Amino acid sequence: MREYDYLIVGAGFAGSVLAERLASQLGRTCLVVDKRKHVAGNAHDNTNRDGVLTHTYGPHYFRTNSDRIVDYLSQFTDWHEVEYKILSYTHGKYWQFPINLNTFEQFLGRPSTSEEMQATLDQWRVPIEHPKNSEEVIISQVGVELYEMFFKNYTTKQWKRDPKELDASVCGRIPVRTNRDDRYLSDRFQALPKDGYTTMFGRMLDHELIDVELDTDYRRIKDVVRYQHMIYTGPIDEYFGRCYGQLPYRSLRFEPETIQTEYFQPAMQVNYPNSEAFTRIVELKHATGQKLPVTTIVREYPEDYGFNSEPYYPIPAPDAMAKYEKYRLRAEMETQVSFVGRLATYRYYNMDQVVGMALAEFEKLSKRPWVDRQIRIANPQRRTHVA
Ligand code: FAD
Ligand code: UDP
Repeated sequence: MREYDYLIVGAGFAGSVLAERLASQLGRTCLVVDKRKHVAGNAHDNTNRDGVLTHTYGPHYFRTNSDRIVDYLSQFTDWHEVEYKILSYTHGKYWQFPINLNTFEQFLGRPSTSEEMQATLDQWRVPIEHPKNSEEVIISQVGVELYEMFFKNYTTKQWKRDPKELDASVCGRIPVRTNRDDRYLSDRFQALPKDGYTTMFGRMLDHELIDVELDTDYRRIKDVVRYQHMIYTGPIDEYFGRCYGQLPYRSLRFEPETIQTEYFQPAMQVNYPNSEAFTRIVELKHATGQKLPVTTIVREYPEDYGFNSEPYYPIPAPDAMAKYEKYRLRAEMETQVSFVGRLATYRYYNMDQVVGMALAEFEKLSKRPWVDRQIRIANPQRRTHVA
């Protein structure tokens, strides 16, 4: 029987931040297990056979408005600053996206101004005071024509639902601007870890009180490891044996291709909102700044979640949230388990939000009464590491 203070399920942002904090700040022993063969969760990256740095599970653009989160992660990485820029390909050409003054000029086919754009959108938009869903949030800003051009089919393809059935926050996270700011995201800090996410996670987890076991489903080892508290970052419905039924998720299939040319497309990401089966083609080299004569692109195909696929996206929709609520109430009763992260709290969260959530959970745990020492006494080898 091996003994630890914490059993941490998942080596993504939620699990790794908590392991790092608990070990380095409180001297707690942690076993981090992940069923994948690598750390970093969905943020995993690697250099492929052709020498190109790619993101394994779709593009991961780090961005945040929180200095606290940047300061925290900066202990483990330097940054490569990037202004994430993307295009949308539809009606036979590339459009500036998200919608901004340049897009509007492309649409008109002549130069314009912020004032003209503002006045025109005021005519086009459908007046809806409190948009309740993803269709309303876009048509209330730009009207039906631009919504149908850029959002309607992309969203239906990605989520296999009409945008009317999705929370306003899904499409509402895409900005609409009347100036020439053509960055995809508006956050103050936008950068990638200089040596990649996987290296950053390696540094976070490189602590004498942290053991990491990969390629291991926690259900295989939970009865042969003793621990006081579990941090669970996997899907919440799976934890409870899907007792209230399976929560809905969307999955993806990634199709990478290496091409013998310096660049394949004119931007880091091109969205395909309409006819194609894929939603986007990502060419990360534009963002990493790698200088190579070859390039790798990744096409992303939305898929149903099933036996052989990953639950990449919780679905932000009222019916899914109602089902999740039952699991949340059940989780509240598990006082020896913390549910943290995107899948365990069923939220469409970005990386910085998950880091914030993990740091908040650490604060909570550090205030909890702790029955100490028993475990370390039972584990003399580890005890040598504890001051
Ligand atoms: P995860 O990274 O999913 O980690 C959970 C881990 O738990 C997984 O590694 C899993 O293998 C493991 N696990 C699950 N069940 C078990 C089990 N039974 N036993 C052992 N291990 C288990 N965020 C951004 O900020 N910017 C972006 O550009 C961005 N792009 C994204 C693109 C895509 C395609 C996707 C899917 C997500 C994107 N995100 C982005 C979101 C980002 O991936 C998440 O916010 C973040 O990775 C969540 O971290 P986490 O630790 O909660 O979950
Ligand atoms: N979206 C869209 N058209 C686009 C880009 C995004 O309709 O060209 C919608 C779509 O519903 C998507 C959501 O906006 O799921 C959020 O987009 P984002 O690029 O943030 O998605 P993610 O990177 O999380 O897949």
